[in-house]
Amino acid sequence: MLILVINAGSSSIKYKLYDVEKDVFLAEGIIERIGDKQATHTHKIDKQEPIKQKVQADNHHQATELVLDMLTHSEVGVIKSIDEISGVGHRVVHGGEEFNKSVLINQDVIASITKFIKLAPLHNPPALEGIKAARKLLPDKPQVAVFDTAFHQTMPEEAFFYALPYKFYKKYGMRRYGFHGTSHKYVARKAAKILNKPPEKLKIITCHLGNGCSIAAVMNGSSVDTSMGFTPLEGLAMGTRCGDIDPAIVTFILENEGLNTYQMDNILNKKSGLLGLSEVSNDMRELNAACKIKDGKACIALDVFYYRIKKYIGAYIAVMNGIDAIVLTAGIGENNPWLKDRLEKDLSEILSKFGAKVLVIPTKEEWMIAMDTYEIINRKK
Ligand code: ADP
Repeated sequence: MLILVINAGSSSIKYKLYDVEKDVFLAEGIIERIGDKQATHTHKIDKQEPIKQKVQADNHHQATELVLDMLTHSEVGVIKSIDEISGVGHRVVHGGEEFNKSVLINQDVIASITKFIKLAPLHNPPALEGIKAARKLLPDKPQVAVFDTAFHQTMPEEAFFYALPYKFYKKYGMRRYGFHGTSHKYVARKAAKILNKPPEKLKIITCHLGNGCSIAAVMNGSSVDTSMGFTPLEGLAMGTRCGDIDPAIVTFILENEGLNTYQMDNILNKKSGLLGLSEVSNDMRELNAACKIKDGKACIALDVFYYRIKKYIGAYIAVMNGIDAIVLTAGIGENNPWLKDRLEKDLSEILSKFGAKVLVIPTKEEWMIAMDTYEIINRKK
């Protein structure tokens, strides 16, 4: 059964076509710079060199059309007709408090995703564009929404409430939601398989470390806490995001630098984190290289990044009163062996007391989206 996974961003659409029952992916690609004259389409068939070409993609509808044309192309396509696709899984960032799992998309679901635009103004609108385009172009195929926030909806109140006036929760839904849920769910399940134990019997801390970074406490298969909050800015130090800071810093900078809220937001989201501290780069590869040649600020940035992870792990071991595994995943987590080595050394007493392991597990968010879509489609039948 073929499932198409679509991840629509503000100016891009990423896609991946899976044969779920055979556990293989057939093709993947990305259309970038949608709405720009320089739009490009990169398409890759498993194990082959990618094809990259300039395209005309004025909007998400046109871009989705290009994706389907490419998948069914007589020479470089992988299917004969779009009828071979059984369903489409869409990545949606924000499902608010309404969705604790993936759902079949209907008008009510679209209305809810639209309602949550106020919580994810940059992410939910392009997801809706992708959904609308795919529904138009593949009207007979079931479409499923898979939310970044859904996995964390099991968090207890004490973990998701901020100590702010309660009225802001009522008025704006201001609470911790958490993100990267699909990735945390996937690697936690995979860790349980590797440990050969049922997820319901495990305490796992999953660290998704990419450009955005978040960490989650997964107890008995459910997320009980996570570091990202109302937005993806909270928690760990990230590529360009500051993560946890004293909130009074925001008003201090606003007053002393004479900035407006847009400029402030830009500093917190785009100019901070590894980039802000190091003044070198937000890219871990460059920071590793710079620190090796004794660039002091690069080394400090790496130390802050690492220390924050270690501190959260400590907190989550306390939250769960134990630990079976710490999982490192995503671009940084999967490719920096020093992280595993350092955690194993620094946490050696705790790890040996609980018989816990540090595992590196590549994340497969798109695969998880395809699996959820597959399960929902089959349940419907
Ligand atoms: P995104 O959140 O954009 O999906 P990724 O999961 O691709 O991000 O992670 C990007 C980060 O992973 C960057 O900091 C990058 O430097 C780091 N990374 C990727 N490959 C390597 C590598 N081989 N060695 C060290 N760091 C890497």
